[in-house]
Amino acid sequence: MGFKFQGFDFLHLDSSFTEDELLVRKTTRDFVEDKIVPIIEECFRDGRFPRELVSQMGQLGFFGANLQGYGCAGMSNVEYGLVMQELERGDSGLRSFVSVQSALVMYPIYTFGSDEQKNTWLPALATGEKIGCFGLTEPGFGSNPGGMTTTARKSDDEYILDGEKMWITSGSIADVAIIWAKVDDEDDRVRGFLVETDRPGFTAHDVHGKWSLRASVTSGLTLQDVHVPAANLLPSTGGLKSPLMCLNQARYGISWGAIGAAMSCYDTALQYAKMRKQFRGQPIASHQLIQEKLVWMASEISKAQLLSLHVGRLKDAGKVGHQHISLTKRNNVWMALESARISRDILGANGITDDYPCMRHMMNLESVNTYEGTHDIHTLILGQHLTGIPAY
Ligand SMILES: Cc1cc2nc3c(=O)[nH]c(=O)nc-3n(C[C@H](O)[C@H](O)[C@H](O)COP(=O)(O)OP(=O)(O)OC[C@H]3O[C@@H](n4cnc5c(N)ncnc54)[C@H](O)[C@@H]3O)c2cc1C
Repeated sequence: MGFKFQGFDFLHLDSSFTEDELLVRKTTRDFVEDKIVPIIEECFRDGRFPRELVSQMGQLGFFGANLQGYGCAGMSNVEYGLVMQELERGDSGLRSFVSVQSALVMYPIYTFGSDEQKNTWLPALATGEKIGCFGLTEPGFGSNPGGMTTTARKSDDEYILDGEKMWITSGSIADVAIIWAKVDDEDDRVRGFLVETDRPGFTAHDVHGKWSLRASVTSGLTLQDVHVPAANLLPSTGGLKSPLMCLNQARYGISWGAIGAAMSCYDTALQYAKMRKQFRGQPIASHQLIQEKLVWMASEISKAQLLSLHVGRLKDAGKVGHQHISLTKRNNVWMALESARISRDILGANGITDDYPCMRHMMNLESVNTYEGTHDIHTLILGQHLTGIPAY
């Protein structure tokens, strides 16, 4: 069954958004309501990414939404954040697809690419005609990507890449992979390469048996003697800072996305609690313990909304630091995961079924808690910022 989403604006924050921002939110919310909500439980159950929605999302300007030119929508960072929020209200898997395409594939091409690379790839990625993935994590190196063992060796006017990447969103459906590798003759400096996925020696295999992000493709990549022209090097990449800049963009979007998942869980729990009767024919919403849970969620979601809006405005003003984004990702994903668990609890036995979105959000958010810097890695990033002492 499920309930029609009512939105959540306890603090009257809508008055802080511009008309354009509210329009972007409405457009995305309508898309989620019409196209994602009706199919998402089935996609999740079947472990299927709804690829048929890619070109529609492209038409709506969701890919590379906060980039300028090349067919991108040129949205502000707050507008982009609202797109992420609404998409994740539908499902974290759909939001993950858009995050990867935008922040982890289009952003590095836009920021580190040559004019030729930008002209070749960005318009096709903006429409969704082409799909991209981002290969940083390896089987042995997740939180510590600097340890990566993937290499790129220069030979005349080519690079030859060898290595393994793991947990790569959209890996097996991508036309192009941004592969991060240590370059042999540059003292193992990390650089980014555009690797067309039909090159000999490039293979992708999907991860099966996931209980999380089931409506998203997650793959392992093998690069065995993959030859790419020297022109496929992203020329302005240099060192681990380059992929970390991409992660910063993605984490910003995730911090908004998590609010969407939490809003969905809260809204479901509130409507359910007012309808479900236990003891003396009273709705469970009349019990103090249930009210305390609803109040916790409402408070935390409101605080997260304020945080993201503020950080979004800082980003639009060019004043945001990576530490602000770490704090927001860490806080908002934590509160969303807690909200999902609490709302699942309020729904009782019904909460474990896919008649309601709470448990799907909960399982999805376990991945969101882990990827793009785990909760604890963001604690360490913030600890280092505050003390000046790295404690990894
Ligand atoms: C669904 C999904 C999609 C993903 N998509 C992508 C993608 O598109 N591209 C990509 O490159 N990667 C992707 N990832 C990988 C993701 O970024 C990594 O999983 C993440 O960085 C954590 O690495 P790990 O899983 O190896 O965990 P580990 O690094 O092994 O960490 C395991 C645990 O140890 C803790 N830990 C690690 N180091 C420390 C420390 N110094 N101090 C205290 N605790 C520590 C962590 O917090 C965590 O709790 C994806 C992951 C998932 C689950």
